[in-house]
Amino acid sequence: MNRIFFRFFVLVMLSITAATFVIYFAFARLFGDPLDDIARRQAAAQIFLLEQYVDQAPRDEWLTRLNNVREVSDARYDLMPLAQARDALGAGRRADLERGAIVIDVGSKSFYRRVDLDGERYIGSQDEVLHAQDLPIDIGQALKMELLRYVIVAIALLVPIALWSRSHWQGLQSLSRMADEFGAGKLSVRAHLKPSDTVYPLGERINHMAGRIEALMESQRNLLHSVSHELRTPIARLEFALELLDAKARDADLSRRIAAMEGDLSELNNLVKELLDMSKLDSARSLQGAEADLDALLRDCCATLPPSPQQVACELAPGLGTLELDARLLARAVGNLLRNAQKYAQGRIVLSARRAPDLVEIAVDDNGPGIPAEERDRIFDPFYRLDRSRDRATGGFGLGLSIAQKAVLLHGGTLRVETSTMGGARFVITLPANSPNK
Ligand code: ADP
Repeated sequence: MNRIFFRFFVLVMLSITAATFVIYFAFARLFGDPLDDIARRQAAAQIFLLEQYVDQAPRDEWLTRLNNVREVSDARYDLMPLAQARDALGAGRRADLERGAIVIDVGSKSFYRRVDLDGERYIGSQDEVLHAQDLPIDIGQALKMELLRYVIVAIALLVPIALWSRSHWQGLQSLSRMADEFGAGKLSVRAHLKPSDTVYPLGERINHMAGRIEALMESQRNLLHSVSHELRTPIARLEFALELLDAKARDADLSRRIAAMEGDLSELNNLVKELLDMSKLDSARSLQGAEADLDALLRDCCATLPPSPQQVACELAPGLGTLELDARLLARAVGNLLRNAQKYAQGRIVLSARRAPDLVEIAVDDNGPGIPAEERDRIFDPFYRLDRSRDRATGGFGLGLSIAQKAVLLHGGTLRVETSTMGGARFVITLPANSPNK
């Protein structure tokens, strides 16, 4: 059951219950207690006997007639002192008793009435009360009828509310599904609602907003792509010109300067290459996946690393099997993690992998400085670097982790960082493994 309907349901039930009590107390106050009325009708025979037979007795014969009634009746008739009867009744009904009225007590199926007001029936009769008990009073039936009325009114209200909230609910479900998919990066998704849906205007606005966001993201991607692309031509021309200059240079100092400029240019070239890669990943909607052997792929990642004194130990669990993935992209992600480890480790790097029934976990551990806990979310942002002076020496742009994360996300996986048992950073790629281990 949806939440809107449930809340409405509770609210309606509470208000019907409150209305029932208000009606009861208002009626009781204005027209007398309805239950009292029912009980009075049920005890009508006993009241009739008292008023039309016992009370009609000549002077001093009142008690005799009462005894006659006692003999033939199922009800019990007791005489009690007025003070005791007053104590048995609530304040509101004491006044009725005082003025000689019949006071019904529904709960104990009895009534009280003063014998008389001026002591003419026997000596001291004005201070006595007749208490009739075991009367044929049964308000159960009346309460059942009230309950039935309550249930019918509740159903009559709840059915239209259920239908009404169902129409809201379906529309809202569709909007929430769309928001989930949009949040997961599928920017082309839109809500499809019928014009008759109650939330149709809201859906239209959300669709309009989604359209604007998609267009903005697209234009931002295009801009990044075009700028990076346009930079390639002048960089290539500069590289060519520097090579020509270097070939003609006679002066050693000039050669050194040219070499430095070539170094800067190659850095610029790498930056453009990484930016282009990132924009390609951003605009990729789906993967060109193929079945790939994980063991071979990961060993290949280690083998193709640039030469470094920091050796990588490959500790792959047996039976990694195959997985449907874009091998080039995953190798790029793992390669980025390994190259980072090579930059920051103190001599020990381990690439490990294991397969569980529904996932594959690939981890890169090192014994370098690690990543402080408060920086762990931000290091995946493009151009974010931890310690800039340290990184200038290591020469990164702060794009490697962002590219790795995008590549893993495209596979439906996650990339996280934690503290390694080796003391440094531990980057863990988790990939869903829905296909059976082959
Ligand atoms: P870069 O190209 O600068 O290495 P990355 O996006 O790959 O950019 O990494 C972002 C930052 O995260 C790096 O500048 C570095 O400070 C930190 N970092 C990445 N990997 C490691 C690691 N294995 N150990 C310590 N710090 C790391």
